[in-house]
Amino acid sequence: RAKQRGRGKMEVFDRAMQGTMLRALKMEQEMRRALAAHEFLPYFQPIVDLESGRIAAFEALVRWQQPGGQLISPAEFIPLAEEIGLINQLGRQMLETSAQQIAAWQRIFPDQMLRVSVNLSGKQFNQPDLVEQIDAAIALAGIEPGRLELEITESILMDNTDAIIAMLEAIRARGIQILMDDFGTGYSSLSYLHRFPSNVLKIDGSFVRQVTEDRFSREIVRAIVLLARNLGMAVIAEGVETAEQLAALREMACDFAQGYFFAKPLPAAEATALIAANRQW
Ligand code: C2E
Ligand code: MG
Ligand code: MG
Ligand code: MG
Repeated sequence: RAKQRGRGKMEVFDRAMQGTMLRALKMEQEMRRALAAHEFLPYFQPIVDLESGRIAAFEALVRWQQPGGQLISPAEFIPLAEEIGLINQLGRQMLETSAQQIAAWQRIFPDQMLRVSVNLSGKQFNQPDLVEQIDAAIALAGIEPGRLELEITESILMDNTDAIIAMLEAIRARGIQILMDDFGTGYSSLSYLHRFPSNVLKIDGSFVRQVTEDRFSREIVRAIVLLARNLGMAVIAEGVETAEQLAALREMACDFAQGYFFAKPLPAAEATALIAANRQW
């Protein structure tokens, strides 16, 4: 009887596993179809220069625009895309469409020198031809390489560091800036910073959102701004939601800021309208 009960449990387990696997398989098929149909597209969130108060750049953030009009956020599909290897194709599409958008803005706003940063998954660095993909996206769009920027997180340095650093240096050699995303939340302390070919730190929103409420967060943000300045790096504060947070960041002489206070990530046409409105914060 014990054996039978054991078998029964196994069957329940199998069925649950099967359900999970079927869902994953269905999602995988859906994603493959959506990639072919170009349903993944970048939204653009402005990054504001705190000295001039003007838009200096945008971050490209992927959205899955389903045929019914439903918009799915990256948290819901990036992890699966990484797991099943679709992140490479998705990442290439984001590089291509973002480069095309840079070209369009270069034509419409020729003297604004707007830059666009694209997020890269660590998994994309497993592709030996990643740098060629970047070159191809730039060449196809006909943009200056310096208009494109790439965001990576410190977690990519956890494995195979030498090969990854070599690729990052090849990217940098083209005049493409590397932004270190979510700075302050990773595991790999400060020891790698001098080896790391990045010239911009993005302070994670979890610190920025508490900058006016919590003395601890405020001092962390201040310390990161000073660290960046002393290392000759620029610094962007993510997740700015209030005028008080913006004022605190200005008082610390933070270089750039990004967040809902300025604008949410916008479809390309709305981002274009925002540039045209020539706002100053
Ligand atoms: P991230 O690169 O750190 O992007 C910042 C996230 O914070 C975005 O979420 C953005 O919409 C959100 N955000 C911006 N301002 C505010 C604010 O004031 N308050 C709050 N609460 N949130 C704010 P999103 O678009 O959902 O993206 C989440 C993450 O997904 C990104 O974090 C990035 O790690 C990843 N991701 C997005 N697009 C791509 C992509 O094309 N490729 C890859 N590999 N990852 C991507
Ligand atoms: Mg980012
Ligand atoms: Mg970030
Ligand atoms: Mg983040």
